Amino acid sequence: MPKRICIDPGHGGYDPGAVAKGVREKDITLKIGLQLRDLLRKAGFEVLMTREADVSPGGYPQVAADLRERCRIANTKQVDVFLSLHVNAGGGRGAEIYVYGQGGPIASLAKGVITGVSTICGTHGQAVRDGGPNGTGFAVICNTEADAMLLEIGFIDSDDLQKIQANLDKFAPLICRAFCEFYKLKVPDDRADDQEPPVPQMLDRQAVDLVIAQLGALTKTGTDEVLVACNYAANSLRRALSLPITQNKGIPTPRAADRVIDVLGALWMCAEDEDIQDAYHYAADALRAVQSQRFIG
Ligand SMILES: [Zn+2]
Repeated sequence: MPKRICIDPGHGGYDPGAVAKGVREKDITLKIGLQLRDLLRKAGFEVLMTREADVSPGGYPQVAADLRERCRIANTKQVDVFLSLHVNAGGGRGAEIYVYGQGGPIASLAKGVITGVSTICGTHGQAVRDGGPNGTGFAVICNTEADAMLLEIGFIDSDDLQKIQANLDKFAPLICRAFCEFYKLKVPDDRADDQEPPVPQMLDRQAVDLVIAQLGALTKTGTDEVLVACNYAANSLRRALSLPITQNKGIPTPRAADRVIDVLGALWMCAEDEDIQDAYHYAADALRAVQSQRFIG
C-alpha cells in the first residue's frame, strides 16, 4: 500500500496569507505544493491536495470554515501524513516546522524536512516546535487524524524573501527527498534547476565535432523551429566539452525537440563508432531534459 500524503498549500482564494513587497504567501505555497505533488507521485506516494488553484478549499470565504474543510478533506481520505505549507511573517528569519507534541511516529520525518528546507533560509528558533493542543494549537494539526506537520519555509517580510524567490524551485525537491528517505523510497529524478543532463561520460572531441557538424547541416534544410532545437543540442555538446558557444537561439519547442531527438536516434542506429553514438545520445538527452522541464515549470 503506498503511503497517502495530503499536501495543504496554506491560504488561497479570499485569503492571501502574509504579503510583502507584492508577494503573496498563497502563491508561494501553491507553487511549492503543486511541484511537491508531482514529485511525491513520481516517487510512488499517493497524494491528495486540499487545493490545486487559487481558491479556498470548499469555497468558504471565512478562516474557521476554510480550516475545517482542509481537515475534513484529509480525514475522509484517511491520509497517513498531512503537510501544511506556509510562509512566516513578523520579521524573523529562517524555517520552522510544527508537529503534534514531539511529532510521534513522524518526528524524524519532520526533522528531515526541516534539515533540508533550512538549507535555503536557515532555521528559526528551535526549528521543530509543538503545534498541537499544548503548543500553538494550529487547527490543521489539532483536528487532523493523520500525523500532521505545518512547515514555515522562511519569513516573507525579511531578507528571507529574496532567498525564497531565488530558490523557489528547490523547496519541493528538498521536502520530497526527506519523505523518500523516511519511507525508504528512491528519490525521483528532478531537473528543475538543471538545464543540462548529468555531465558525462567522457565525450570524444572528434565525435562531438562531427555530430555538431551534422546538426549544423540539418539546420540548412530544416524549419526555423528545428534550427533552434539543433542549436540547443549542439550547444549542450559544446558545454559538455567547454567549447565556445557562438550562437544561442534559446529553448526549443517540444515538437521541434521531438523531431531532432528522432533524427539523433536514427543516426545513432546507423553509427558504428561508440564515441559518435555517445555524442548522439548526449545531445538527445539534453533535448529530453528540456521537455521534462516543461511539465514541472
Ligand atoms: Zn500561513
